[in-house]
Amino acid sequence: MKAISGTNLEQAKSHNRRVVIEAIRTNGPLSRAALARLTALSTQTVSNIVEELEGAELLKAEAPQKAARGQPITPYSINPNGAYSIGLELERDHAVGVLTDLSGHVRARVEKAVDRPTPAEAMPILAGIVDELQRSFPFDRTRLLGAGIAMPGRYAAEGVTSLSPVTLPGWQDYPVARELAELTGVPVLIENDATAAAIGERLYGVARGLSSFVYLFLGGGIGAGMFLDGHLYKGSRNNAGEIGHMIVVPNGLACVCGKRGCLDRYVSLGSAYEYLDLRGPEQHDPETLAALVEQGDSRIDAWAEAAAEPMRQTIDFLELAFDPQTIVLGGSMPPSLLQHLAGQLEPLHAPVNPGAERNLPRMMIGATGRDTAILGAAALPIFSETNPQFDVLQKPLAR
Ligand SMILES: [Zn+2]
Repeated sequence: MKAISGTNLEQAKSHNRRVVIEAIRTNGPLSRAALARLTALSTQTVSNIVEELEGAELLKAEAPQKAARGQPITPYSINPNGAYSIGLELERDHAVGVLTDLSGHVRARVEKAVDRPTPAEAMPILAGIVDELQRSFPFDRTRLLGAGIAMPGRYAAEGVTSLSPVTLPGWQDYPVARELAELTGVPVLIENDATAAAIGERLYGVARGLSSFVYLFLGGGIGAGMFLDGHLYKGSRNNAGEIGHMIVVPNGLACVCGKRGCLDRYVSLGSAYEYLDLRGPEQHDPETLAALVEQGDSRIDAWAEAAAEPMRQTIDFLELAFDPQTIVLGGSMPPSLLQHLAGQLEPLHAPVNPGAERNLPRMMIGATGRDTAILGAAALPIFSETNPQFDVLQKPLAR
């Protein structure tokens, strides 16, 4: 069993609430005593939070279980219909939205094709997806916690783009979250795709319950989401993990960032399109690559071979820098292509401590496929410690 520790300070109530919900989401139904043990919160604090969350219909009591001695024990589980959340993902070529319930199950899904949209083009499309999701599944709208959006690039804490995402030009300094919240009337949180994917993989995938791992997001570009010592690590200016612009081939291919030989130019969908000489928006489609993998096209082998050494070098660096339990590969790259690339990476560079026992492989493929980032985005409003919607739900319900 795994959980992150809580704190008993009164002002940390919202943090503790999140810790309790996460402990039950990760481990399944838990009694108050088990919750107290897992979260290191006092029994009294756990009891108060459980009572509040049950009152808000976010948790529900399961049938009491007979204990060996003393009172029967009541386990608490997540009430899936207690709250809903919307996850959005905007990439160069597509925009997707999902409506998930509090246990993370997808209840509705909408997908639209886009072509490197500007903010003016993308915002109405995203707002339309939010609207369509809400209309396509009958639920209590007052229980919608908000929307999370995953995009390439890095963002300041307020949800403003802090760095030009080279994969989506025209978005620098555009206040995505604020504008989308205004258009939809729903609170919006933004996260870069690699970090959102790390959240998704930790909640639903192979990183479930891990305390330290690095998620390598292979999409239009490449970026890392880092979950270290039980916390997301974002850096002092939210730019941690922007490894696509790490030089892996000195004086190599020119990059839009102004440097030469960046990782992005060798290991990304963009690099694959270029290597395979695929042109135009209709060919710049992960499905085109998936079809070529299926056909056993030799150009795919050549690309994977060229990408393997920069990728090995990256994994070596991430292991040495962060000492993670494992490195998870995923992103919007077709799973078959990712698998193909992963097959080229072994043997990895020798680890710093070859004799050390490991209970996980050094490298794993993510379990949630191409939906990882969007599931992570949908979890943002649920795990935000400052989401005012939670307080609305916890007011005594007038019924
Ligand atoms: Zn670069």
